[in-house]
This record gives sequence, C-alpha cells and structure tokens, in this order.
Amino acid sequence: MAKKKAKKVLCNKCTGLCCRYFALPIETPEDKEDHDDIKWYLCHKDITVFVEDGDWYINIKNKCKHLGKDYKCRIYDKRPRICRGYRHSDCDFTDGEYDYELHFTSGRQMEEYIKIKFDNNVKEKQKSKKKKKRKK
Ligand code: SF4
Ligand code: SF4
Repeated sequence: MAKKKAKKVLCNKCTGLCCRYFALPIETPEDKEDHDDIKWYLCHKDITVFVEDGDWYINIKNKCKHLGKDYKCRIYDKRPRICRGYRHSDCDFTDGEYDYELHFTSGRQMEEYIKIKFDNNVKEKQKSKKKKKRKK
C-alpha cells in the first residue's frame, strides 16, 4: 500500500515521461549493410537506436495520444497490458540516466561507427597482413 502511495505521488510530479516514446527490439546488425540499414532508420525524425545489455532497440519518440494535458492517462482503466506492467521502481522519472552501451541519434554517428568498426579495423588489417605474409 505504502508503495502504491509513493508511486502515485511520483507520477503526480512527473509529466508522463514513460508515455512519450516506445522502444522495440531490432535484429543485431552484423555486417556493414545491416549497419547501413540502421542509418536509414536514423534518417527519420525522432528516431534513435540504442544498445542495452548487447541487444539493439529502435526508440520512437512519439507521445501516446492518450496522455492528457494534465499528464494523466485518459484511458487509465483500459490502458494496455504493457502500461499496466511498467515498473515504477526504475522508471524514467526515478532512474534518470540510461545505461546504454551505444546510443545513436543521427545517421552521421552511425557512419562514424561503421568507419571505426569496418573501415579502420586495425586488428582485421593486421590479421590480413599476417595472412598475406604467410602465403609468401
Ligand atoms: S515516468 Fe515514472 S513517475 Fe513518470 S508517469 Fe511514468 S511511471 Fe510515473
Ligand atoms: S495508454 Fe495511458 S499509460 Fe499507456 S502510454 Fe498511453 S497515456 Fe501512458
């Protein structure tokens, strides 16, 4: 009960941060082309891509149409299962910063990442040099 009360007080102070986006898992990109496809996601407005615990997600920053001007849910009693199951212990308001391993907010960032991962991969270059030497 006390917990429930604390939750209510917290939500009353919040502007409905958890109702302003949704994130979906995407396939882990493997090759250069897969990463380039993610660059395409990032060309779109209000889209970011992040990696958490090794899993990749697309984040759609788009407010739920049921969030009222008073920051309360207008369909509270009929809200979807996902909303009902949302944990308040580590919600957007209480937890603050995310623990992303990677967070891409633009295609340019993904281009840089592709360069580092595939084009400037020193280890890979060294490996192929060694292979070439062995062949001689
Ligand atoms: S982010 Fe947390 S405090 Fe804000 S409305 Fe959602 S659950 Fe409540
Ligand atoms: S349905 Fe209600 S609780 Fe769920 S995201 Fe929309 S406003 Fe938030």
